[in-house]
Amino acid sequence: MSKYSFDDLKNKVCVLTGGGGVIGSVIAKGLADAGVKIAILDIKKEFADGVVEDVKKDYEIEIIGVEANVLDKSSLELAKGQILEKFGKIDILINGAGGNSPKATTKEEFITEKNLGSLSDTFFGLEIEGFQKVFDLNFLGTLLPTMVFAKEMVERKSGVILNISSMNSFRPLTKIPAYSAAKASINNFTEWLAVHFAKMNIRVNAIAPGFFLTNQNRFLLVDEKSNELTARGKKIIDNTPMGKFGEPVDLVGGTLFLLSDISSFVTGVVLPIDGGFNIYSGV
Ligand code: NAD
Repeated sequence: MSKYSFDDLKNKVCVLTGGGGVIGSVIAKGLADAGVKIAILDIKKEFADGVVEDVKKDYEIEIIGVEANVLDKSSLELAKGQILEKFGKIDILINGAGGNSPKATTKEEFITEKNLGSLSDTFFGLEIEGFQKVFDLNFLGTLLPTMVFAKEMVERKSGVILNISSMNSFRPLTKIPAYSAAKASINNFTEWLAVHFAKMNIRVNAIAPGFFLTNQNRFLLVDEKSNELTARGKKIIDNTPMGKFGEPVDLVGGTLFLLSDISSFVTGVVLPIDGGFNIYSGV
């Protein structure tokens, strides 16, 4: 075993919430590559099972799909029972479930003289239910699984937690105030929890992904017919020093680093994985 490798991750057990999604599925493959045993948790069992099948095609590791709602403590307790029965322990928790809502997204970037007559396209048209949903999914959806799964870790005085923030937690993006604020709360919570758990040998960190081309946002960023960047897509690339979108697989290295003993003295950090978007002033 090399001294500086991810080998310590072999046979660790990881619970990955929202694991049936785009980023979850890529991270699951990265974990499998490092020999981690995985429980893919998702509110949609078929999504979780899809990732399980996909991972099994490439890797011979133990992996199960578990249905659970990150907003429902009793469903998480049930999931925990299933996971402990199968694997006997939980070493790693990745809080991956999260997302935005159209109800908490403005149509316009700015209020100007031009849209004074249609304020419903601005901040004033946002729905409280949208804010509630986004804060619940991103914040409570990280808090509750941590309450349920980290107890195991505290009892064994060993564990690692990784939250998934976003680059917009540092600098809010236009149109999505709830998502930006909810992800900012994840950064703060990551720091708080890192302190609270520090004496129990449990580290808590986060990654903050920047812009990734996924099936969900591709139509916003690349014109389907011409394959050229849209205006928003171009703005992003112009503001990314590395001059490109990330591929979800770019998240794997940072994730494994923060989970592995290689980062054993690192806790409470939010690691941007964004091609430099966050630190670029544009000049
Ligand atoms: P995704 O929508 O593809 O996946 C999210 C998964 O979470 C889905 O499989 C969904 O079924 C599941 N889920 C939703 N609500 C749930 C609940 N209540 N309980 C359990 N599971 C639930 O999203 P993604 O793009 O893979 O994003 C994963 C994480 O990364 C999110 O926290 C997201 O905010 C964050 N993120 C994504 C990007 C990006 O560009 N895609 C950028 C920055 C941050």
